[in-house]
Order: sequence, then C-alpha cells, then structure tokens
Amino acid sequence: MNNHQNSFSPPIRILATRRRRRTVSARLRSGVLEVMVPASMSVAERERWVELMRERIERQMRRKLPTDQRLAERAKRLNDRYFAGRLSWTSIGYTDTVSLWGSCTFTIGAIRVASRMKAFPDWVVDYVLMHELTHLVHSNHGPAFHEMLDRYPMAERAKGYLIAAQQLSQMPGGA
Ligand SMILES: [Zn+2]
Repeated sequence: MNNHQNSFSPPIRILATRRRRRTVSARLRSGVLEVMVPASMSVAERERWVELMRERIERQMRRKLPTDQRLAERAKRLNDRYFAGRLSWTSIGYTDTVSLWGSCTFTIGAIRVASRMKAFPDWVVDYVLMHELTHLVHSNHGPAFHEMLDRYPMAERAKGYLIAAQQLSQMPGGA
C-alpha cells in the first residue's frame, strides 16, 4: 500500500471570468480541479485560492471516504495489536448483503462489514472487525473464540451499542 494520504494533487485549471467580481469557486471535473476566479484577480491571489480550494476539496473527499481502505487500515492495526500480526486475509470491505454486522468467510479469508456501519464510531467498527478477524483463527463461536475476542477492551460496550442500534432499526420508522 503506497497510496499516500497527502498525495491529492490533481491537475489544475484556472478559469478567469469577467462576470465574476469577487467570489471564487471550485469543482472537481473529470479529475481536474477547476478553480473559477475573477479576471481581475492577481496571479499571487489566484495561487493562494487554488491551494485553499485544493485543501477544501481534499477534506471533502476524505470525509466522504469511510471506505474499504479505512477497514483495511483498522484491521491491520487490530491484527498487529491483538494477533501479533499473524493473521492474513484475502479481501476486506463494506457490503450491503450481510444479514447482521459482519461476516467472515474463513476458508477464503474474505471479511465483510455491513455498509450501514459506515456511520458507526471507530471503536464499534473495530469490535466487529475483531469478531471477524477472530474467525480467521476459530471458525465457531466456542469458548476459545470468545476468550480471544474479549481481549478487545471495548467489547462489552460495543455489544451494547450494536444491540441498541439493532433495536432502533427494527422500530417503526427506524432506518
Ligand atoms: Zn461470528
């Protein structure tokens, strides 16, 4: 993984328009950052705005990105911390098709987390990941499974959170 976090540097096109008096706006279009500036704006000012807009769009993109990458990074941290980095999996990602919170096809090492968990706090997502990672060692839910899973300190709180979330979603009008 060498997708560096700070590498958002799209090609930039500056569009200067006479219709525009003061405001600056920007959009990402086919991977090009277009920055609309007033024609009267100086080069130095344009450059300052381009950098501001680039940062703003980068922040927006990051906020929208509770992606599979997020899961992969969190799973790696958990693996290092609780499994001495011994586990390996073939794929990890969000999906709409799991019936509850997560699933692990331990024979092929595919971990799936319910898409509706994208809005959940990290420590709850970590608990579900811990559950699925533990399945890479123990396929069933026996005592050894639970002993391993309960090394995650927030396990009890996370279980409570998930039970509450589940009940809310089953209420009339719930999501
Ligand atoms: Zn399970």
